[in-house]
Amino acid sequence: MSLFKTKKIFSVIIFILFMFLLVSCKKENIIEYDVPLESMVYEVNEQFNIYEDTEVYLDKNFKYATFSEINDGFAILTKNNMYKSKNKTVCVNAGHGTINGEMYETYSHPDKSPKLSGGSNSYGSIKSKAITTGAVMKSGELESAVNLKVAKKLKNILLQNGYSVLMIREDENSKLDNIARTVIANNYADIHIAIHFDSTQNDKGIFYITPIRDENYINMEPVRSTYEESDRLGESILAAFREIGEKIFRKGVMQLDLTQISFSTIPNIDIELGDRATDISDENLDIFAYGLYSGVENFFGG
Ligand SMILES: [Zn+2]
Repeated sequence: MSLFKTKKIFSVIIFILFMFLLVSCKKENIIEYDVPLESMVYEVNEQFNIYEDTEVYLDKNFKYATFSEINDGFAILTKNNMYKSKNKTVCVNAGHGTINGEMYETYSHPDKSPKLSGGSNSYGSIKSKAITTGAVMKSGELESAVNLKVAKKLKNILLQNGYSVLMIREDENSKLDNIARTVIANNYADIHIAIHFDSTQNDKGIFYITPIRDENYINMEPVRSTYEESDRLGESILAAFREIGEKIFRKGVMQLDLTQISFSTIPNIDIELGDRATDISDENLDIFAYGLYSGVENFFGG
């Protein structure tokens, strides 16, 4: 047996022993934690090279990359080398969180045709805001901050279950507009989930955005090649939320023309986890993260 293999096996044994100790101590409340258990697990896994982090930037040679206006930032790709790794990468995109993003404009569509629905940008816009600021929750907290909390929780659950994760942002200013985020996801991930809360204020429940059923939109590439799988992803996530008894808004789906959809070459959804009046307690955000993870499992047939 090579030295490398022996070292690797030894590392895995040490890791298992450590995890066993951690879990048994937790059960008997021997250890008082100053930091959340998930981040300890993450640090331990990182130490053993089970999670490998890389900063990934927008490569100007990527398809549609030149459409982006804000792209000085980077996303974090965490490759999962766990023994049960699924060899799938999930892009977790905490919606908004790019300071001054509304001061820039990008084409609504890759063929430069006008936008076919309303939304943050009006119907008929050739160019849309590069990225919007997002809503303010009823509690006064920014939607972008809440999106990020859910994203971080989702990242941890995905990593613990063998997925690799492309985290679009980890703080409140990612310096990546919607096109940059989408193009990075296209090139480093298998699926793309953008996390949002809607700007209404009636706690209406969860829904995802499906491409508007306008013939021109559905037949425009890359929408034509992705929308069926994107819908399957959306339905997989809704099924997971229904199973845990979460409130769904009407049929759980709304038709829109979004920049993310227009430039995605991989299955992608914008999921609205409710709106400004939704319960954003830590416990409820845990439920949202778990529901999203279960939806990903449903999608990949896990
Ligand atoms: Zn939003």
